[in-house]
Amino acid sequence: MLSASITFILTGAGISAESGIPVFQGTDWRGHSHYELANIDAWRRDPQLVWEYYSERRGRARDAKPNAAHLALAEFQKAAGCFLCTQNVDGLHEAAGSTGVVHIHGKLFESRCSAECGAAPVVDFEEYAPQNLPRCGCGALMRPNVCWFGEQPCELERIYSELERCTTFLAIGTSGFVQPVASFVSLLKQRQQARTIYVGLTEPANAAQFDHVYLGSASVVVPQVLGTLRCGG
Ligand code: ZN
Repeated sequence: MLSASITFILTGAGISAESGIPVFQGTDWRGHSHYELANIDAWRRDPQLVWEYYSERRGRARDAKPNAAHLALAEFQKAAGCFLCTQNVDGLHEAAGSTGVVHIHGKLFESRCSAECGAAPVVDFEEYAPQNLPRCGCGALMRPNVCWFGEQPCELERIYSELERCTTFLAIGTSGFVQPVASFVSLLKQRQQARTIYVGLTEPANAAQFDHVYLGSASVVVPQVLGTLRCGG
């Protein structure tokens, strides 16, 4: 029974909040919302401003450490196996020891060519001043390797195929607002193929879609829930 279980784990900002990475929804940065800045239109209009915003985010996230929830997930992944998909652009799952993590919204500490000339993304911890923005070898501006509002999320094809085969779906610290991620659980509910579980500090917008909702801080509740999954409970 246990060996037949295929687990899909989705994580959002709630899992990293206890590591000191702010939850960006509704926050204000120099009079702009996260939605306004993490947006392809903002990049087209004012790449300097967007780079300043992402530089500051890099500065804040650089010293963050994984918390007990990240560590429990990495341990679960090693012991039981799972598909791990995160909306977070921080690298805290990898820092905790997880491998093969799918970053649906990209990675904060990578940059890539804005002209998509074919150059591979580069790991990049730098913070940039407006007069000194980075350029690709082809001459185009480099941009943060993240997925913005108005852009297609990364690796959707793989994610949907993993959703199709999973028998347990565990969402941690996601708001339930941002599409397409918010609709994953309703997709599974329609098919009635998987048990669906939510863990987070507060109820997500799509709470009614889940079979089980456990509220509490991720660092406490995630290890508990993963423990029951490992016991086949
Ligand atoms: Zn280029």
